[in-house]
Amino acid sequence: MHCPFCGTHETKVTDSRLVVEGDQVRRRRQCAACGERFTTYETAELVMPRVVKGDGSRESFDEHKLRAGMLRALEKRPVSSELIEAAVERIRQRLRATGEREIEARRIGDEVMQQLKRLDQVAYIRFASVYRRFQDLDEFRAEIDRLAQEPSFLPGEEDQS
Ligand SMILES: [Zn+2]
Repeated sequence: MHCPFCGTHETKVTDSRLVVEGDQVRRRRQCAACGERFTTYETAELVMPRVVKGDGSRESFDEHKLRAGMLRALEKRPVSSELIEAAVERIRQRLRATGEREIEARRIGDEVMQQLKRLDQVAYIRFASVYRRFQDLDEFRAEIDRLAQEPSFLPGEEDQS
């Protein structure tokens, strides 16, 4: 986002709020160079950050791909479609809320892991084993041990908000 006053690239979001029935976002930005403040309006499509892949190439955020990856991990698991959709929406919101124009693919993977951890432990392990590409059984076992230490991984302590 260019500053309309001095043209620099370095602007930061100071406030984001949804307006116009939720499909537009109004943002207050401030220029890091000249300090001027201005407002931008962006539609929902533009609001999702672009995805920077591991090799440095960019692609647009693909919600279907995100959902497909989660569904693969959740296959035959007792998790309702409603909860899955809510998790997808939470990920979208969290990515939007960064206010970033671009976001690393790794960051999205981390968000998916967080959500799966809340939904279903088996799905979480499935996804993690693919996503983290465990090299051997010891590495895999170490991850499971590490998870068992986390209070958030204990049943009954999920935060569904
Ligand atoms: Zn400026």
